This record gives sequence, structure tokens and C-alpha cells, in this order.
Amino acid sequence: MNEFDLIAKYFTRPAPGIDLGVGDDAALVSISPDHQLAISVDMLVAGRHFFADADPERLGHKCLAVNLSDMAAMGAKPTWFTLSLALPEMNEVWLSSFSRGMFALADQFNLPLIGGDTTRGPLSISIQIAGEVPKGRALLRRGAQLGDDVWVSGPLGAAAAAVMHRTGRVVLDATLAQRCDLRLDLPQPRVKLGLALRDLAHSALDISDGLIGDLAHICEQAGCAAIIDFKNVPQAIELNGLSSELICEAVLAGGDDYELCFTAPVVNREAIERLGGALNTPLFRVGTITCPNANTPLVQVFDEAGQLMALPFTGFDHFK
Ligand code: ADP
Ligand code: MG
Repeated sequence: MNEFDLIAKYFTRPAPGIDLGVGDDAALVSISPDHQLAISVDMLVAGRHFFADADPERLGHKCLAVNLSDMAAMGAKPTWFTLSLALPEMNEVWLSSFSRGMFALADQFNLPLIGGDTTRGPLSISIQIAGEVPKGRALLRRGAQLGDDVWVSGPLGAAAAAVMHRTGRVVLDATLAQRCDLRLDLPQPRVKLGLALRDLAHSALDISDGLIGDLAHICEQAGCAAIIDFKNVPQAIELNGLSSELICEAVLAGGDDYELCFTAPVVNREAIERLGGALNTPLFRVGTITCPNANTPLVQVFDEAGQLMALPFTGFDHFK
């Protein structure tokens, strides 16, 4: 099998709604009138973002899921994606599982693959995604306003616990480890929620590097600060047996959960709770947007007793 057979067999499928899909030098796409394209790309490298022996079907899901999550965080409706793949060798078992996992998720969103690039090299996968959003309606980080509530879209920390287990920092029993693995490997992008939040939220992002680090990005761009009530931050039940230090780290600084963090005006509290019910995605109000202060961190976390918590960690940074 050569490169072109590989593309034809594993990555060429009908692309309804697309003017020209895989097969030419470029794809052709029309965009709805009065809409903007939201465009994002995420690269996943073996040994850095995933373990080299990772299950290829789950990997296919995850690579697309992290991109869909970016569309959710912008309030954009995903419309197409492209795939760049570097593979160490021709491995049809791997390719067929990988494409199965990727397309299973793509099909949930009627999302066509419209092109890509394929090369031999150390395993790495880069997906570019585009979505549409009515002009001016995207959810921007800089949209957060003083007095906004801060919300998150689900319990945090299970994916971090999976990483702690795989790297030997904690020992979880087999059932628990499997449940954490599911959260790490198969995140469910909150696309419907993101679309609905266009009407209710001022700002949003997806939590890929940990709640406090990611919320700090909103604060930086919006010129504000935030306080978090630790007791209101939903903790994954998978964390129950861990020490309070590790729970705190997993919940506040654990990446890879891909829940949304968003800020919204107080008047929208009830509507947001109703939305969570309607989508079967419980939404948790965890804090408030405040005025920045040169002497304190942008994001401060308070414990049950109302005491400021000293946090020995920050968001994930590849170059730190
Ligand atoms: P070019 O040489 O013009 O860059 P390629 O030979 O790389 O074209 O690709 C041929 C066609 O196959 C293009 O339409 C490209 O978008 C598509 N393609 C290549 N690799 C992939 C992939 N992994 N997934 C989807 N489409 C791909
Ligand atoms: Mg090419």
C-alpha cells in the first residue's frame, strides 16, 4: 500500500455540504453569509501529548475531540476539519483503528474531513478545524466583565488522576484507573453547550491546562481577576481516595478534562441552570470576576473557611 492508497482507504469519505473535498490540491468550501470562520489547529505528538503505545481508536477520538472543544469554547458550529499525519511506518491495523475512532466522533457532529497531509516520520497528528459563527457573536476570552459569575461545565480532575496513575505518582485500583483513563482518552467536547452559551455568556475557554491557569488566560485578556470558591468546584468522584493535596492539584491544575470554563452576568444564573438541565450537563458556579490587583495573583482560590489557599502549582506550560 502506498501513500495514495492509504489516503483513499482510510481518509477519503463523502463530504456533504463541501464544494470539493479530499483528492485535489486544495479543498473548496463556501461559507454562510454573515458568518465568520473560527479556525483552530492542535498538534498531538507521541511521547508528549500521548503515550506512544496509546490505543489508536481512542487516539483518533481524542485528536478530534480537543479540536471540537476549541470550537465549543468559541461558540462556533464545527463545519470541517483537515488531518496531517506523520507515521513511522505503514501500519494498517493502527490506521484502521485510528480512523474508526476519529470518524465515529466526526459522525456525531456531521463533520467532514476535507483534506490533509501524510508523511513518514515520528508519530504525530495535527488536526485543523473550522467552525462558523454569526459575525461578532463568538465567545472571546476578552469578553469577561467585572462581577460575572465563573462557571465550569463538569467535574474536574479525573483526567489528571489518570496521568498521575500512569506516571506512578499514585496507585489507583484497576477499575478506578480505567474510569480515569476514559476521561483522559475520550473527552466529550461540549459543542452544544458552547453554541447555547452565545446567548448567555460573556467569555469562555476550554480547560486543557488546568482551571486556574486557563481562567488566568481569560483574566489576562479581559484585564480582570477572579476568585474561586474551592468548595464549589466540582471534583470528579474518581478522586475520592486521593490525598487532599493531590485532589487540589488535580482539580485546579489538572489538564485534559476539556470542560468549558465560562463567565456570565449574574442575571443569567437561572437560565444557565436551566440550560445545564436541558443538555444533561450540570453546570457549576465556582467563582466571580473581580478587579485586578497588582499585588495578588490573577486567580485566587479560597477554602471552606474563607482562607486564601496557597497553591504550589500553575497551569501546564510545555517550555517550563
Ligand atoms: P499535494 O501533493 O498537493 O500536497 P497530497 O498528495 O499531499 O497533495 O494529498 C493528496 C490529497 O489527499 C489532497 O487533497 C490532500 O488534502 C489529501 N490528503 C492527504 N493526506 C490526507 C489525510 N491524512 N487525510 C485527509 N486527506 C489527506
Ligand atoms: Mg501534501
